[in-house]
Amino acid sequence: MRLLLVEDDPMIGEALLDLLRAEHYAVDWVRDGAMADTALRTQHYDVVLLDLGLPKRDGIEVLQALRARRDRTPVLVATARDAVADRVAGLDAGADDYVVKPYDTSELLARIRALVRRGAGVAEPVFSHQGVTLNPATREATLDGQPVPLSAKEWAVLEPLIARPGVVLSRAQLEEKLYGWKDDISSNAIEVYIHGLRKKLGSGFIQTVRGLGYLVPRE
Ligand code: CA
Repeated sequence: MRLLLVEDDPMIGEALLDLLRAEHYAVDWVRDGAMADTALRTQHYDVVLLDLGLPKRDGIEVLQALRARRDRTPVLVATARDAVADRVAGLDAGADDYVVKPYDTSELLARIRALVRRGAGVAEPVFSHQGVTLNPATREATLDGQPVPLSAKEWAVLEPLIARPGVVLSRAQLEEKLYGWKDDISSNAIEVYIHGLRKKLGSGFIQTVRGLGYLVPRE
């Protein structure tokens, strides 16, 4: 899953980047409102973590512009502890949720997981399909009730596919979930992870749609 982190404070930004990458999110970090706007116009994100007080363009303006484009990307607004008015303004401008600074990291991660699920149209906290379950909170995968060890990259490829059975994702779309801007992408990486997943989950769990990409079949 790919996140946009919008935060101008370098220390908070570095800490969040480490935290989110340790959770295996692909994260792009921008430090002002204009960059956030550009990133949101050019890249699809599963969740945006948006600070409100930003150089160049206020977070509220970025959010309003996003919603004015009818872009429904889930947005988690970050506000200062005592700023009730900021929270109200953020929600009214189209934020899906908010977190209070300084962050409680476990709460932040839980709210991000909830928004990822909501963005996928899934209400249950665990993805479950055809005998395979993925629990993003514990990062445990099972096949027919038995634990299946998945690498972080395998997980990153499988999660968006199992979140939307029947939907084809292209190799480029899967790469977006896997890598931030600064990562190198080796040309056959996705195929390697798909191959690994098929060995662990059964060859039919992920199907190749020739010329288009991959999907987890609905039935
Ligand atoms: Ca700020």
